[in-house]
Amino acid sequence: MRQKLAFFALLGGVAITLAGAQGRPQHPADSFRPIEPAFLLELPSEWAINDATGQETWTDWVEVWRPVCGTKRGSVDAAGLEKLALDHHAQMDADGVTIVDTPQDGVAAQVNVVFSLASSVPAAAIPAFQKAEQYLEAQFTDPITVTVSVSFAALGSGVLGGTSPSYTTATYTAARAGLVAGADITDSLQANLPTGSSINVRYSGTSSTLTAENRVYFTRANYKATIGSVTGTDASMQYNTAFSWDYDPTNGISGYSFVDVVIHETGHAMGFVCAAGVWSKESTALDLFRFQTTDGTADYNPDTLAEWTARPRLVAYNSPNDAHHTDFVTVEYAMSDGSPYQASHFREQTANIGIMDPAFSSGQTYSPSYMKASDLAAFDAIGWDR
Ligand SMILES: [Zn+2]
Repeated sequence: MRQKLAFFALLGGVAITLAGAQGRPQHPADSFRPIEPAFLLELPSEWAINDATGQETWTDWVEVWRPVCGTKRGSVDAAGLEKLALDHHAQMDADGVTIVDTPQDGVAAQVNVVFSLASSVPAAAIPAFQKAEQYLEAQFTDPITVTVSVSFAALGSGVLGGTSPSYTTATYTAARAGLVAGADITDSLQANLPTGSSINVRYSGTSSTLTAENRVYFTRANYKATIGSVTGTDASMQYNTAFSWDYDPTNGISGYSFVDVVIHETGHAMGFVCAAGVWSKESTALDLFRFQTTDGTADYNPDTLAEWTARPRLVAYNSPNDAHHTDFVTVEYAMSDGSPYQASHFREQTANIGIMDPAFSSGQTYSPSYMKASDLAAFDAIGWDR
């Protein structure tokens, strides 16, 4: 059974002591200290089978519910997210779920995306899920299935909805090995991640203090693409029935383009996430590529491959302000820092950097090429094969 973790325990710093490798707690809830609205739901633990070694690891999982992104993301607080999360799971446990899983006839190896829709999902939305599914499957070749469950409900005025990738942690050693082993033919950067059992991270942008980070947060889909096999749903989403959605971006947009929003939120589920703002002093797989943009006191922005290996990562909420980027040495992309937009995005700017922009707005679409070179480079870096 799912268990709702008591909020006093999450916010009050009560330690959950499941000592893991190297004496570090391995439970993905124990450092949940959201600065922004978020609700954490514990999921059943599972055995994960490592792709490279066949070794089995007992893994803990949580869903982290946050507002659906966009300029209308506001007015869902943690209590509102809890309510919609529990309603979502009640809906998914009821009868009448529709599976959107188009057969991949005659297509070369592709990721398999499956949307599992509660009966509350409007019939008019189903073609939008088919569009999102087929688009995402055409981008990536990983031989895995990504399952996303979706419901609708009447939510507050101006609220797009709530969405939650599920997360676990892996040791840095396992994360690095998975990223290196899973690198496709175009990837060379992963092998330059620092060797050893930890990576240096700055968790404050106003301090030079380094943390030797020995674990990494992965979304379930990213874990499967990179490290090993687990079952379970990769993400859950609930959208507002009262909102003005446009389910067909090919004939002009009135309201919010639903296909764009679903692809963006599935992108978070695939691992386009930053730990800042949600967890205290933790890093995600994408954060292994995150640096300070200004050189500061210690030449923090890497200019060469050697510097990319050696420089500390930066995973800090709004510090230093507006000086965070994802760095692939040959190219770098400005990132949001948590304020005013969730750090799990590119920086908001005109023109947008990619579909993982934080402030998607009414009347906007990326159709038909939803993901840009920026988005695809990020997914490629964290283990998705192209
Ligand atoms: Zn987003």
